[in-house]
Amino acid sequence: MRSFSYHRATSVAHAIAVRDSSPRQPGVLLAGGTTLLDLIKLDVMQPEQVVDLSRLPLAQIQRLPDHRLQVGALVRNSDLAWHEEVRANYPVLSAAILAGASGQIRNMATTAGNLMQRTRCPYFRDTVSPCNKREPGTGCAAWDGINRMHALLGGSAACIATHPSDMCVALAVLEPDIVVRSAEGGRSIPFRDFHLAPGDSPHREHALAANEIITALILPPPLLDSRQRYVKLRDRASFEFALASAAVVLRMDRGKILAARVALGGVATTPWRAAEAEAVLLNATPSRETFLAAAIAALRPAVPREHNRFKVKLAQQALVRALEEAAG
Ligand code: SF4
Repeated sequence: MRSFSYHRATSVAHAIAVRDSSPRQPGVLLAGGTTLLDLIKLDVMQPEQVVDLSRLPLAQIQRLPDHRLQVGALVRNSDLAWHEEVRANYPVLSAAILAGASGQIRNMATTAGNLMQRTRCPYFRDTVSPCNKREPGTGCAAWDGINRMHALLGGSAACIATHPSDMCVALAVLEPDIVVRSAEGGRSIPFRDFHLAPGDSPHREHALAANEIITALILPPPLLDSRQRYVKLRDRASFEFALASAAVVLRMDRGKILAARVALGGVATTPWRAAEAEAVLLNATPSRETFLAAAIAALRPAVPREHNRFKVKLAQQALVRALEEAAG
């Protein structure tokens, strides 16, 4: 274990000031610690300074006057999933969170930490393997390696690591804003702009500037009369990442789909909004044929590698099932 300095933040402003004061590299932020501590122990991350945010008053969920729902950055995943408002109005979010990790981890992991979750690519966590995300310019061991868990969508020759979060797949269809602060002030980042595809720089994973801290997530007003589902397929029933997952929100009337939002998880480098599937569903009659056509369209851009070809079919099945369950 390498030594680092530890600071317990007493306010957001204090956290920003302490983090920015680190002479050589910005300090890293500790919330629930469910990713960070693993990565420090594995020597994947070597922070000189850790700024502990866990005592900050950012763990509230509140309805805003304009009917949006503000979720503090430090709201625990369990508290978010079981919150009355979330279960009633954003059931896809509740279901996605409860499909992730284990009860113990959900009790520790935070909303902002989940947004910032790092990939589970085994080569990223193995410091002797080449990995462009961990060490830019060294190559990608997964490209010709064991890539069964890797991405079909949004990858590049530099990186095909999947985004590991379930929560973020649900957020992709709910379209929240992410509220951030820095010493210069605050701003909101639309969720769709937050996670970055790897391109030539897989070490850049999100749109957060080095001097910014996430303080909240703001969900839009409830989508009235919507039907929401999250389906996750994985190797075992608990404490496992998705091989493929699908989040859907449908609005239907008189046998027609009036609006459709579709996102995929476990198969893409970012929480993946499947616009191709949505185009097939819009104004269509809900049926198995329609849903299959949407699933085929969603996976049309897939670029499988040697070991993950099976995930094309698996993701299609996850999406068809989610659509069938949502349509009732
Ligand atoms: Fe690293 Fe990405 Fe390649 Fe995994 S897929 S080894 S994270 S560059």
